[in-house]
Amino acid sequence: MNILFLGTGTSTGVPVIGCNCEVCRSKDPRNRRLRSSILVRTAKTTLLVDSGPDLRAQALRHQLTAIDAVIYTHEHLDHTTGFDEMRAFCWNREGKLPLYAGEACLNRLKAMFAWAFSPENTHKGYVRPEPHQHGGQPFTVGDIEVTPVLVEHATVVTYGYVFRAEGSTFGYVPDIKKLPAESAPLLRNLDALAMDGLCFPQHRTHLTIDENIALMRTLAPRRGYVTHSGHRVEYGQLADYLPDFMEPAYDGLLVEL
Ligand SMILES: [Zn+2]
Ligand SMILES: [Zn+2]
Ligand SMILES: [Zn+2]
Repeated sequence: MNILFLGTGTSTGVPVIGCNCEVCRSKDPRNRRLRSSILVRTAKTTLLVDSGPDLRAQALRHQLTAIDAVIYTHEHLDHTTGFDEMRAFCWNREGKLPLYAGEACLNRLKAMFAWAFSPENTHKGYVRPEPHQHGGQPFTVGDIEVTPVLVEHATVVTYGYVFRAEGSTFGYVPDIKKLPAESAPLLRNLDALAMDGLCFPQHRTHLTIDENIALMRTLAPRRGYVTHSGHRVEYGQLADYLPDFMEPAYDGLLVEL
């Protein structure tokens, strides 16, 4: 199983429009962050997690032309508004595109993109989703087992996911403020775990870098990655700051498990 980070930025992306700070002006490509999304791949299966507003650029950058399913963490716009770009993944497929989400997120997607979910949508040029409401229960796509992990983030129901395939485990939690005690065991002792680290100062709806590190230590993955970062986080400084078992994720990072 391998993980490709398509985007590792917070909702604004980095650089931020109109900002002239050091990170936004940085020439280091690892300081340029598209909105957060990953691909989880095995030899047989390709899963897209979230369809943010940068999906078109991400697909072009990585020559991504087909996926087996899309999985949503939550309904925030930085994770959903690239929905229509998935047309390109529907043009060449016979059946519909499997789409997995929790109940609240699925209802929101149906409201936002009603035409796609309409029974009258049979046009091959459109996104033709096959909705699956996972209800927080594990499911399988191809040879990848997916376990939803309920977390606390802002006011919307939000999931992280654990992916299990080919003897490896990977956890992905891009948006989180607090991990409920019932969810913690699902994220313990994974081969790798990527988690929200928005900024250094306290934040209302996201983990800070220090909160991320503290939580990582209790969950003890073999490798820990920080993602969903904003423009106050400089790649090199963060890399130096993190403990040995952790590193910042960056756009284009490929993790082979
Ligand atoms: Zn987000
Ligand atoms: Zn900036
Ligand atoms: Zn969010």
